[in-house]
Amino acid sequence: MVGANAMEIFLHLEKSNCRECGEKTCLAFAGAVFRGTRRIGECPRLNGAALAKFAADEESLQDRTVELAEYIAEMKRKLTRLDFAATAGLIGAKMSGETLQVPVLGKLFGVRGDGTFVTDLHLIPWVVVPLLEYIVNCPGTPVTGEWISFREIPGGREKYALFKKRGEDVLRELADRYTDFFDDIIHMFDGRAVDKQFEADVSVVLLPLPLVPMMICYWKPDEGMASSLNIFFDKSAGANIGVDSAFSLGTGIAQMLGKLATHHGF
Ligand code: SF4
Repeated sequence: MVGANAMEIFLHLEKSNCRECGEKTCLAFAGAVFRGTRRIGECPRLNGAALAKFAADEESLQDRTVELAEYIAEMKRKLTRLDFAATAGLIGAKMSGETLQVPVLGKLFGVRGDGTFVTDLHLIPWVVVPLLEYIVNCPGTPVTGEWISFREIPGGREKYALFKKRGEDVLRELADRYTDFFDDIIHMFDGRAVDKQFEADVSVVLLPLPLVPMMICYWKPDEGMASSLNIFFDKSAGANIGVDSAFSLGTGIAQMLGKLATHHGF
């Protein structure tokens, strides 16, 4: 199994816990498939359509994983050709010996000249891809201080529905449920509360990358009106990272917080 987790496998199963596969539950069977000790086809209750869908999902997942690995390898090759000292000055990073150090959400991410990373951060794609893009392609456009919505980033209009669903809606639901949500975000990501913007009840600024400030604004429910939440980027985001990396950062942060809330509560 590449990439899929046990829960994704579980979703393909009948969930009847019939035990015909020899496992006590469908979830236990999904875990065994994930670990590679069982094959999905060993569930006799799985019909052809479900099996075909699983195979298709698996194939596309593997394709995407290979594409991603190739893409990251190509970006690393480009890294090795960069003048790190000049790049550091351009993108708000600094040099420590031969290592380029980029602050990412309050933590330093180091890159050596041979393209290897020096970091305590988890190397998850939603951070690594925008970071590599930023180091290789950021032109160093100064931050303007003017906030724009994701929709206003060039190319953002077409992707906004998905950005809202995977990013803004996830954060809004968390903010509705957890009173300390924004304090936790500030603590985890080295963010800062700022004067209320756009008449929001809470405005928090994060710095996913040095020249890419991102602001989360939350409006509490009020007199029958539902709450709302928007993620804003600096007007320079289109030039400094582009819409795909903005999408990746905004939704990546939201998905990570959503998973933390589900598994641990905070
Ligand atoms: S045979 Fe299939 S449906 Fe039955 S418990 Fe195993 S995984 Fe679940």
